[in-house]
Amino acid sequence: MYDIKVEANFSAAHNLRGYRGKCEELHGHNWKVEIVVSSEKPDKIGMVLDFRYLKMELRRVLGKLDHKYLNKIPYFSATGGKVNPTSESLARYIYDIIKKKIRALKSVTVWESDNSCATYYVL
Ligand SMILES: [Zn+2]
Repeated sequence: MYDIKVEANFSAAHNLRGYRGKCEELHGHNWKVEIVVSSEKPDKIGMVLDFRYLKMELRRVLGKLDHKYLNKIPYFSATGGKVNPTSESLARYIYDIIKKKIRALKSVTVWESDNSCATYYVL
């Protein structure tokens, strides 16, 4: 198998509902998001997918999260999708959007700090 990976960043605020600790208060992160696309066989010019295209798709999704208060985005809001904006949920949210365009998407990893991340993928 071949895996290719691109990364991009965004900055956003959130607070976690139902969590006791510092993260229940409003705070921000500089998030890093890695996406992996995988293929058994590269195309005829030797690529799994053009990195440029992959970065463009990732940045398009992250552009909608950048400098936002994530709890106000309907999917994550207390009155909308009611999904807590954790790194895990963000990984799934981003995965579901990109998967619609890029079927070979394998996983999305969301880093909320240099040493903590969550990955979402479907077996
Ligand atoms: Zn946080």
